[in-house]
Amino acid sequence: HHFVDRATPEGVLAAVREGRTHAQVPGYEALDAYRAGGGYAVLARLRASGDPEAVQAQVLASGLRGLGGAGFPSGKKWSFVRAAEGPRYLAVNGDEGEPGTFKDRYFLERQPHLMLEGMLIAAWAVDAARCYVYMRDEYPAVLEIQRREIAALERAGLVPPGYIALRRGAGAYICGEESAMLESIEGKRGLPRHRPPYVAQVGLFGRPTLVHNVETLHWVARVCREGPEVLSSVEKNGRTGLRSFSVSGRVARPGVYTLPAGATIADVIAAAGGMAAGHAFKAYQPGGPSSGLLPAALDDVPLDFDMLQPHGSFIGSAAVVVLSDRDSAKAAALNMLRFFEDESCGQCTPCRVGCEKAVKLMQAERWDRNLLEDLCQAMADASICGLGQAAPNPIRLAIRHFPDEV
Ligand code: NAD
Ligand code: SF4
Repeated sequence: HHFVDRATPEGVLAAVREGRTHAQVPGYEALDAYRAGGGYAVLARLRASGDPEAVQAQVLASGLRGLGGAGFPSGKKWSFVRAAEGPRYLAVNGDEGEPGTFKDRYFLERQPHLMLEGMLIAAWAVDAARCYVYMRDEYPAVLEIQRREIAALERAGLVPPGYIALRRGAGAYICGEESAMLESIEGKRGLPRHRPPYVAQVGLFGRPTLVHNVETLHWVARVCREGPEVLSSVEKNGRTGLRSFSVSGRVARPGVYTLPAGATIADVIAAAGGMAAGHAFKAYQPGGPSSGLLPAALDDVPLDFDMLQPHGSFIGSAAVVVLSDRDSAKAAALNMLRFFEDESCGQCTPCRVGCEKAVKLMQAERWDRNLLEDLCQAMADASICGLGQAAPNPIRLAIRHFPDEV
């Protein structure tokens, strides 16, 4: 890929002059190849004589849960949306902004039609009037692939023109929060909404909306084609299913690794070629900055949904960052809060002011733990959305697991 220096106007201008404004589009499976391998056969069969409840039963039987990070049972959402009166919409969350997450990009740059077919199956199941794909603008190759392949679907008569609308994000982390994303699609500033009501009832343009993450839809297509067993037959450490880990940090081979959902951090590091030369495993971020840091001693916990809760954390979108003996847990926690401070939409005081105060307090030689804990409580209790509610996690986890450093 070519990287465009977007940080300076000069960088952008230079990129335009040199014709580098678009990232090189990698080789990927286009519509013809996908169809030749059996793609869109399931969709055609369902549209001809399918039963939405039977498809939903398959998705439920697979155990598929929302892979944006929250792990909500995917099939269940379909009932909520279908139960609400139409017209209904479907929105794909492709605003993969969690630091350390790049699995959606990985799938979209290789097999874009798995997501698109999964989306069309889900749209058929809830009788959606239109689908919106909200894609991260920092993924120019993915956007180009989506543009081409949505046009190809229209040409092939698989969707009516305009049925799939592609929307570009604009670099705000908060626009990945589902209700802020819907505001952004509506053309407004991306501010999270209060919930309830959930978007399944009152979503895009006030209509019931099915929102799914890219990877979730990728698996919907595979489950419908290969059967629920593609996920439900994989077992490890008492857990079922598969998880795509985005692995970065001090490992030998950073990348996306799809492993059993019961895999531990030891398995993830092994899959990534072990630790980088000269580094000893010290800590890991299991799933984005809001999951904080866990110590290397917790290397035998299955990284599945719900399993990290007793340790104060969660797996989220499985954005694993591995830290070594050369890294500071305190500095990493501060970095996470700086990120939240930058990305807070500023709509509510506990988050807007809380993140800023936390960053100041965390710069002290020794943390004032009581004051920080009070602040964390206020932020977690009184923030409108997940950003402010989860921003205290890196602080709490550093105090709990790395007390000597802070
Ligand atoms: P959530 O648990 O509140 O909701 C998850 C989904 O289930 C939403 O679509 C929500 O509308 C739906 N839902 C929940 N309860 C419902 C109900 N009673 N009725 C109808 N629908 C219901 O979580 P969230 O705030 O949407 O997401 C938080 C997660 O997002 C975090 O765990 C984090 O890991 C992840 N995240 C991911 C990225 C990324 O780039 N992939 C970025 C930031 C955060
Ligand atoms: Fe905005 Fe933060 Fe409030 Fe969320 S918690 S609405 S990001 S200010």
